[in-house]
Amino acid sequence: MEQYTPMIRQYLTVKAQYKDAFLFFRLGDFYEMFFEDATKASQLLEITLTSREGGSAERIPMCGVPYHSAAAYIEQLVELGYKVAICEQTEDPKQAKGVVKREVVQLITPGTVMEGKGLYEKENNYIAALTILSNGIYSLASCDLSIGESRATALSTLDEVMNELSTLRAKEVVVKQELDEGVKKTLKERLNVTLSYEEQREEREEFVPLLEKVNVPHLREAASLLFHYLHRTQKRSLAHLQPVAVYEVNQFMKIDYYSKRNLELTETIRSKGKKGSLLWLLDETMTAMGGRMLKQWIDRPLIEQEKITERLSMVEVLIQSFFERQEIRELLKEVYDLERLAGRVAFGNVNSRDLIQLKKSLQQIPVLKAVLLQIQSAEIQNLSKKMIPCEELTDLLERSLIDQPPLTIKEGGMIRDGFHIELDEYRDASRNGKNWIANLQKEERERTGIKSLKIGYNRIFGYYIEITKANLHLLEDNRYERKQTLANCERFITPELKEKETLILQANEKMMELEYELFVEIREQVKVFIPQLQELSRLVSELDVLQCFAQVSEKRQYVKPLLADNRQLFIKDGRHPVVEKVMDSQEYVPNDCLMDSEREMLLVTGPNMSGKSTYMRQVALTAIMAQIGCFVPAGEATLPIFDQVFTRIGAADDLISGQSTFMVEMLEAKNAITNATDQSLILFDEIGRGTSTYDGMALAQAIIEYIHEHIEAKTLFSTHYHELTVLEEELPRLKNVHVSAVEQNGRVVFLHKIKEGAADKSYGIHVAELAELPKELIERANDLLTKLEQKETPNLRGKNSKQQEKQSKIEETSGQLSFFGDSVAAPSQVPGKERKVIEELKSYDLLEMTPLEAMNVLYALQKKVKK
Ligand code: ADP
Ligand code: MG
Repeated sequence: MEQYTPMIRQYLTVKAQYKDAFLFFRLGDFYEMFFEDATKASQLLEITLTSREGGSAERIPMCGVPYHSAAAYIEQLVELGYKVAICEQTEDPKQAKGVVKREVVQLITPGTVMEGKGLYEKENNYIAALTILSNGIYSLASCDLSIGESRATALSTLDEVMNELSTLRAKEVVVKQELDEGVKKTLKERLNVTLSYEEQREEREEFVPLLEKVNVPHLREAASLLFHYLHRTQKRSLAHLQPVAVYEVNQFMKIDYYSKRNLELTETIRSKGKKGSLLWLLDETMTAMGGRMLKQWIDRPLIEQEKITERLSMVEVLIQSFFERQEIRELLKEVYDLERLAGRVAFGNVNSRDLIQLKKSLQQIPVLKAVLLQIQSAEIQNLSKKMIPCEELTDLLERSLIDQPPLTIKEGGMIRDGFHIELDEYRDASRNGKNWIANLQKEERERTGIKSLKIGYNRIFGYYIEITKANLHLLEDNRYERKQTLANCERFITPELKEKETLILQANEKMMELEYELFVEIREQVKVFIPQLQELSRLVSELDVLQCFAQVSEKRQYVKPLLADNRQLFIKDGRHPVVEKVMDSQEYVPNDCLMDSEREMLLVTGPNMSGKSTYMRQVALTAIMAQIGCFVPAGEATLPIFDQVFTRIGAADDLISGQSTFMVEMLEAKNAITNATDQSLILFDEIGRGTSTYDGMALAQAIIEYIHEHIEAKTLFSTHYHELTVLEEELPRLKNVHVSAVEQNGRVVFLHKIKEGAADKSYGIHVAELAELPKELIERANDLLTKLEQKETPNLRGKNSKQQEKQSKIEETSGQLSFFGDSVAAPSQVPGKERKVIEELKSYDLLEMTPLEAMNVLYALQKKVKK
């Protein structure tokens, strides 16, 4: 330390407190970085690395960004998951003795950005804090600092924590240093979040009102950890923070992270973008706040019948009120992001243009309320009544600010004439002065006879009289004092001009100072309204999402679902909303789905690309849409309320993501099986595909049986193991359905139509034939098939699938293209030895086994029956 210059010593002292952040150290017009920060930042930001003397033997690496363009660089670093500490000069350099005092004024982190590109309009930006109790209970608190909303919940497993954090898409998680290393690692690797550390300390007094609804001590602890962090890093008013709301994850339909991903609720699997997701399809919101709320609703479908019904009936009246709805949409278009604005008001970073936007937004509210009152619905009228328009605030903003103020708040020109007497006086002085100068120009032209004489102004020289060189000889007296000589003219002043100038400049300066003061005062007054603005935002967002549901439902001809008490699911002419939307030329083929106490499980068979996955997903999406309160893509729909939805995709279908192994497939299946209840919906799409045929088939069957016997969840199970269709005879609540295809003019045409019964298994070779594989090859395949069918095969159920085979020359053909699936036929009788193996297989509790153990057992079983 000693070797360095005082400034570098100051730098190092500050840096020691912000080891995990880039320290932007203000030096004049630049933010400079030194040492490792400089080397790293110069690479990340692609800026030049230089060096400077700092007292040590070696030069110190340095790089910097100009103050006025720093925002873009900060954003870039934060987007990459880094933190940036902003260190400003906190005293006037002119007055400083020795090194200018500097202090970190804000730590900008991925979870705390308040503006800029990193903050997507229609997405919340969450920061969370996680603590663990000794009994393994997790407490999770989260906050969207940009709008001031916070929540807390208790969770019992790390999986639940992961799900919740990925639902929130938290960018940053605050933990205690002593948190279990394994948990830290999981958070970082699985969620790719920025980890931040904070010490548990005494609750600060200002946290008390925020924590008023949090009575459970450990939840309070997590929330206060989060607030400590925000308080320490933001170093400014957090007046916009709302009291923490406590919730439980099972107040909503549970959809774990994998299922959300598989169903493409808010982003697609391939591009990870919004386009192509359910959110994209539904998003007809008109405001950014509504967009964020829509996303939250999709992430958390309801499970309380009353609440769902309320939303559905509001959507229904909004559909019926076509004209009012269009008016509402027009009005909402003019409503600015009040919620984030409230946050920025608290932070002190709004300008007068923001306040004008606020004014315009507020002006819409009375009109909006009136339109809502015209709609004959108690719920809608109630919504209207709850909207408090903050008239006083509107009035203040109308009176105080001009309609098109400048961007900066330090150079005046924002406040209306007549708002403040003193300001008006300065303005008069300034205007009079300017008039006087305009007159002077006229007089001087006449007096000197120089027509091109003009009076100009610049910041450095102030007012001047300018005369071109060609006209200089016309100046007869020496009343003018020479001020500046340019290439083709001379500039002069006169004592009276100088005097006026002083007056005007003083007035201007006073005006600017006063305007800034007035602006700050207005901003403080807006602060008082923050809670009202937040409440208003919430109501406007809600209305926006409801009108959005009405708009899409009408446009796409969705119907109002009926909620059944008897757990029956009946969808008539159901469609996959997104596939339907993106299909350009062809028509989407609607399909029915009936599941009730006698049809708890549907085993879906059919060729590749026939529409199995699409069918299963449309059932899940329909259920989710109903439970968020939207109409559904069907001709008619009666639905139970599901507590959870699980979607698992066989590994082979999931190769795109590159991460799916059979192990992951099994872990996901385990998660579904252990958590599902008889109120849940399970979609298993080609489970068991990630391993060898018999292996996979055995597991698939065991899973089906287990769900049928122990869980009784509504289950759709698609499979390419045709052999499994015989299960229908054993399991009373399982039914076969298949997706049909027909042959037209020698080509296979997928009808995408779901029919009762199992797919026809001889489909594969038929398709190969239609694909014009060599005749010889087709004949050979047919031979092999016949031989295989005569041989004993490890079909575990031992039913003769021939019973289900229709004629071999088929009109309606269906089955699947998998070679193995097609060609393995079942024996008519199961010999005793194999029966034993079946018994043994039944006795295993798969859920208690590791995949490796399962493999070993299977291997042993197979060995027993293999010749
Ligand atoms: P599978 O799971 O049986 O292999 P998919 O469900 O992936 O088949 O469907 C394959 C393609 O068929 C889809 O991408 C879609 O374009 C089309 N498709 C599926 N179902 C329908 C339908 N009901 N109507 C029209 N096209 C459909
Ligand atoms: Mg599929």
